[in-house]
Amino acid sequence: MSLQNQSKFNQLSLEKHLKNYFGYDSFRPGQKEIIQTALQQKDLLIVMPTGGGKSLCFQLPALLKSGLTIVVSPLISLMQDQVESLQDNGITATFLNSSLGLTETRRRETDIMQGKIKLLYVAPERLLSDKFLPFLELINAQQGISTFAIDEAHCVSEWGHDFRPEYRQLQMLRESYPDVPMMALTATATKRVREDIIAQLNLQKPYIHIASFFRSNLYYEVRQKTNAKNTFAETLQIIRTVGGSGIIYCNSRKRVDEIAYKLRQNNVSALPYHAGMNDEDRTTNQTKFIRDDVDVIVATVAFGMGIDKPDVRFVIHYDLPKNIEGYYQETGRSGRDGEAAQCILFFSYGDKKNIEYLIGQKGDEQEQRIAEQQLRRMINYAEATDCRHRILLGYFGEDFPGNCGNCDNCKYPKPIEDWTIEAMKFLSCVARTKERFGMTHIIEVLRGSKNQKVLERKHDKLSTYGIGKDRTVEQWKNLARSLLHRGLMEETTDGYSVLKLNQNSWDVMGKKIKVEIAIEKKHQIEKTTTSLATDEQRLFEELRGLRKRIADEQMVAPYVVFHDSNLRDMAQKRPQKLDEFIEISGVGSRKRDKYGKQFIEVIRNYCAEYGLPTKSEPIRELAKVVDNVPSLTQIETLELYKKGLSIDAIANERGLKTSTIASHLAELIEKEQPVDIDKLVKPEIQKEIIAAIEEVGDEKLTPLYEYLQERYSYDDIKLVRAFLRSDRLDF
Ligand code: ADP
Ligand code: ZN
Repeated sequence: MSLQNQSKFNQLSLEKHLKNYFGYDSFRPGQKEIIQTALQQKDLLIVMPTGGGKSLCFQLPALLKSGLTIVVSPLISLMQDQVESLQDNGITATFLNSSLGLTETRRRETDIMQGKIKLLYVAPERLLSDKFLPFLELINAQQGISTFAIDEAHCVSEWGHDFRPEYRQLQMLRESYPDVPMMALTATATKRVREDIIAQLNLQKPYIHIASFFRSNLYYEVRQKTNAKNTFAETLQIIRTVGGSGIIYCNSRKRVDEIAYKLRQNNVSALPYHAGMNDEDRTTNQTKFIRDDVDVIVATVAFGMGIDKPDVRFVIHYDLPKNIEGYYQETGRSGRDGEAAQCILFFSYGDKKNIEYLIGQKGDEQEQRIAEQQLRRMINYAEATDCRHRILLGYFGEDFPGNCGNCDNCKYPKPIEDWTIEAMKFLSCVARTKERFGMTHIIEVLRGSKNQKVLERKHDKLSTYGIGKDRTVEQWKNLARSLLHRGLMEETTDGYSVLKLNQNSWDVMGKKIKVEIAIEKKHQIEKTTTSLATDEQRLFEELRGLRKRIADEQMVAPYVVFHDSNLRDMAQKRPQKLDEFIEISGVGSRKRDKYGKQFIEVIRNYCAEYGLPTKSEPIRELAKVVDNVPSLTQIETLELYKKGLSIDAIANERGLKTSTIASHLAELIEKEQPVDIDKLVKPEIQKEIIAAIEEVGDEKLTPLYEYLQERYSYDDIKLVRAFLRSDRLDF
């Protein structure tokens, strides 16, 4: 390009360039200022969370500046990924690393020397090798080096979590090329690491951009891990409602294999990943995950380094992580594309004990102390009633105000109740039974069970027998767990989990310590992706199919071709021509030319086949979407109903209101589950309610209630209405 043309080209607005090369319509927060500064030849330090959009900050300037931008990156697998994505946007990028043969290396070097390349990715040890340095000289003399972009810059710091000595040598670049600007990028937020990067790389009055690490698209939730069966059922439910790709982290290899196997038994496509597998199997499973050949990867913490998959929709921690740093990094792998993702942690007191045991095995005392402290903070997080984002960000030194609107504690605040009296009852029952029993037995005594073990030991004669009938088993367990977590009671670790009293327990019984607990409520995982109408959803699936075929042909990951959000945009807008196709988010000029025709063809055929209106005419709601799968809480109610329990009994057992249970049953009826209306509402009452519905319609309950002169309860009306509705579905 001539100098004159180059300057004209640069005058186009940055937004135009962004759309043209990357297909995006607007910059993410911070990107534009960074790019403008980079174009002024200044040094930069960029601190952004994973998925914040760091790469674009050096990629776009690289295209707009003359000369070659050199990107230093420590991970070979990521290099290939980034380069493939860039090439797919028609950007001349390449990488040099040890995975290439000699001929291929030569070929790439020639391309670089001929000025065909704008971005070169290279690992630090190669960049600084004796063989490479003269080549670098040559490049600089011939076409100029426009920028050194140092990705994962925290690797220069011993204070970071990933120190790499070879990064220290990068100082040499500054000495040899004092005029070439440097851009350092990292997702590590601590001040110490930041200062270290500036000092080690000798950045000159750098423009520093520190983004908030608040990732508003990630939903954080902690669930009680009650028993193995429930935890697995809940996991299955999360996988099914959220859909898409996900990672499940477990603490042991054995557990990884077990969960992966059980998921496959339940028709979930899942594969394991842990250090006990051989390299080949691990790589295969990882590639399958990245290429969307498998939905779920069940893994130990060995998995994830260098995974750049943008569309991970959930990260489940099946076991308690050892520290917050690791936890944040692992959950941070979800939702890189900025779309909603779920981060669910299952927490149990038993996990805490297991980790404590492992810590106890460590030889070094100092190490032990640090590990214990980290574990404590992790547990504080798990038990907190505060905003989860606030706690996590606080850990990394960011003062986030809370009220995020996207964590369990903000969305469903747990009511705090004074349970001192109950705690006194519980602890004195432990005392009366001489500190020789576990939680289950104590609760049986409190609830007045006639179980053989209780009677044999004459525990029905104790003064605490039956004084806790007013609370459910689950409620007592919640209290007991809370007492344990806070050290108001102990539990033996000999495998019998016998409850023991300590000084705190006696203080509670002496009314010197007040016990306030957060009341657990189960809440439903919501489907997170932008919901599409049924037709759009089907078209979306077809577009996904096409994307997968193209990706397989090119041997790249599907997201290199298009992101899910791009396909969703296509399914909604249904472009029929190339100039409509380029309006889709994620479509730049190159992708329009490369893929436009194929995608448009699928869209056209689909519209023709289903008689769908094309772009700009909205789809009519053709049919109401029927969601026929009961939620987990409804299933729990159903199980008890099947055992023959009445609505009142179920409510009592579950610690929920009777009206809630009636609503569950009504929903279950609508979802065509085996709930018999005749057992719930007398036939003659049914008749009257049906007549009323025929008169007033079934939209609202209150008019029906009033029409029936308040003779029948809302619950009865709800149930009969559900029965009528389920009947109608048969047509
Ligand atoms: P990081 O390196 O900070 O972890 P990436 O640079 O990989 O993040 O960007 C994360 C994702 O966001 C990528 O899929 C990228 O294509 C996308 N992205 C970056 N900038 C924008 C933008 N301005 N608009 C839409 N998507 C963007
Ligand atoms: Zn919150």
